[in-house]
Amino acid sequence: MEMRIDKILEKAINTHSLNENEILELLKTEKTDTLFLHADEIRKKYVGDAVHLRALIEFSNYCKQNCFYCGLRRDNSSLKRYRIESRNIIDLAKKAKDYGYKTIVLQSGEDSYYTVEKMITIISGIKDLDLALTLSIGEKTFEEYKAYRNAGADRYLLRIETTNEALYNKLDPEMSLKNRMQCIENIKKLGYEVGSGIIVGLPGQTLESIAKDIIYLKSIPVDMAGIGPFICHPDTPMSLILYNSSPTSEEKENSSDSFELSLRAVAILRLIMPDINIPATTAMETLNPKGRLIALQSGANVVMPNATDTTYRKYYEIYPGKICLGDSPSYCRFCIENKIKSINRFVSTGKGFHIRQRGH
Ligand code: SAH
Repeated sequence: MEMRIDKILEKAINTHSLNENEILELLKTEKTDTLFLHADEIRKKYVGDAVHLRALIEFSNYCKQNCFYCGLRRDNSSLKRYRIESRNIIDLAKKAKDYGYKTIVLQSGEDSYYTVEKMITIISGIKDLDLALTLSIGEKTFEEYKAYRNAGADRYLLRIETTNEALYNKLDPEMSLKNRMQCIENIKKLGYEVGSGIIVGLPGQTLESIAKDIIYLKSIPVDMAGIGPFICHPDTPMSLILYNSSPTSEEKENSSDSFELSLRAVAILRLIMPDINIPATTAMETLNPKGRLIALQSGANVVMPNATDTTYRKYYEIYPGKICLGDSPSYCRFCIENKIKSINRFVSTGKGFHIRQRGH
């Protein structure tokens, strides 16, 4: 078995290509130290020691969708809703630029208040600042994606969440995997840098299904892949499905499993897509106080610090226990740079586009 893992790792390092069974074995392996070490080496070889920072502005928590796992879901009436006006979003981006960010990520629930016209105003206002811009505002029509792209948006982030259709339908009964895949194809067709990704540790999700997710991300191929562990929100149907009361110690154990499993998925992605951008996600740090640094040392090369006003942060509650809720945008910028330096890495001075390297 151990011999076999060594063979798989050797194949991954030499060819950057693995089949589903080989990925599955890496998801199961106990030789995680070797897996993480190799992923870290490949990261260094292909994308170097620079860490790209993306300033995340969570501009609205209204959502017309009703995903079973997400705290922003339409039917969560315990959440106080907010939206930030266009000119204030642009002001937040200006401040982020002053703190040294080169990329802005605009994220929200699916909020129809922001018409195409409003989005174009926001996008052009931010592009006038000479910043790279990522949108993460959910499923839109081809025409809408096209309008944002023409206004100057560079990248679009839409996680596939899971490629297992049965699981997808259980978690988002009103949505369809087919449409989400179509959205990702449309984004690609329009010339955006494509960001996608998955949630790891969803109830009912198998390792086989995560292996298929990884193959899917490579088949696109994505320019960026975000992997986040599932964290149960008490005001969503998932908490009723999972536990009727607060989590037992065994259930807490499962959440540390999903941290570890997310880390394996990050490492495997780095091995088979050596030059893409892979964020060390906020959800990983929620489950482990050093989560983002550990991810940066297991294949990741991007961090998305929060640049939302402190007043709104606590209401963007996708899942509970989000980090940095009481911190200001300037403090988050300062804090992350120190953390990055502590592991002998440095903050990139460029915009951090996906640069395709030769040799794979
Ligand atoms: N409306 C946008 C942004 C969604 S929020 C969109 O559809 O793309 C960003 C991400 O948070 C989601 O894509 C999902 O992967 C993640 N997320 C939602 N609920 C979560 C939970 N309970 N635990 C972990 N991650 C979650």
